Amino acid sequence: MSDDQAFPPQQQDPPGSTAAMNPVPDHGEESYHGSGRLEGLRALVTGGDSGIGRAVAIAYAREGADVAISYLPEEKQDAEDTASWIERAGRRVMLLPGDLTDRETASSLPQRVVEELGALDVLVNNAGFQMARRSDGIEGITPDELDRVFKTNLYALFWLTQAAVPLMKEGSSIVNCTSIQAYDPSPTLLDYAATKAAINNVTANLATTLGPKGIRVNAVAPGPIWTPLQPATQPVEKIESFGKDTPLGRAGQPAEVAPAFVFLASPSDASYVTGTVIGVTGGKPVF
Ligand code: NAD
Ligand code: MG
Repeated sequence: MSDDQAFPPQQQDPPGSTAAMNPVPDHGEESYHGSGRLEGLRALVTGGDSGIGRAVAIAYAREGADVAISYLPEEKQDAEDTASWIERAGRRVMLLPGDLTDRETASSLPQRVVEELGALDVLVNNAGFQMARRSDGIEGITPDELDRVFKTNLYALFWLTQAAVPLMKEGSSIVNCTSIQAYDPSPTLLDYAATKAAINNVTANLATTLGPKGIRVNAVAPGPIWTPLQPATQPVEKIESFGKDTPLGRAGQPAEVAPAFVFLASPSDASYVTGTVIGVTGGKPVF
């Protein structure tokens, strides 16, 4: 898509599907070349069915990792499409449908990955949910709406990480998905932005406590990226101008975010990198 093109008007119901998007996002299917950066590692990517998670799953597999992906049961088609790319890279894939707002479901995943893939070397806390709040600010957010955002983005990250850390060996790493919203919050994403700021804080704090165990903890902060989350949660007028307010003047593709996740997970490239956030924002500052 050229810089001056707007996205066609479109809306979906959450969690959204890849096939229904126009244009379909680029997850690096035709462009990502691995070079053994994650050879032999075993990764769990939450929300690995679509969007940024799919691009990360494809890149990790092409870098030599076996990849488990978690997703909502209704995202089966997207998950199977991602799985086929992992298999085509010659790596093992594990499919983990389930709702991460349920503590038992989230807590069970790390152990299941170890049982099937043999270890858990990289945990990517990527699953996330937002919903543009259309009208009356903080007063309009219902208890259920607040629960869904905080449980998906923050509680699940805690539950997954609590279960994963005891299973992770020296040299492992955790990569969290935060957002430009942690730095430059939109009033319509009040609750979502709060979870992303908390994820930044948790990332720095965990890097301190897990450093002595040789486990690195980092985050990637995407800016506006063309994924199903957007047409499923933003009003149509936002979609048409999506990403135009960045210095680069356009939205990013999931394929443009995945390399930051590869770098942070790589035990050799990022051996001295922990407690930091890489912005992939099209130029919006993350400092
Ligand atoms: P996406 O919709 O493709 O991926 C989000 C995934 O989260 C879904 O596919 C779904 O599998 C998972 N998920 C949501 N609720 C879940 C639940 N209750 N249980 C299990 N899984 C659940 O969209 P994306 O944009 O690729 O989102 C990935 C991450 O990127 C999210 O954390 C999001 O906040 C973050 N992010 C996205 C953007 C953007 O512009 N797209 C910008 C900044 C940050
Ligand atoms: Mg999805």
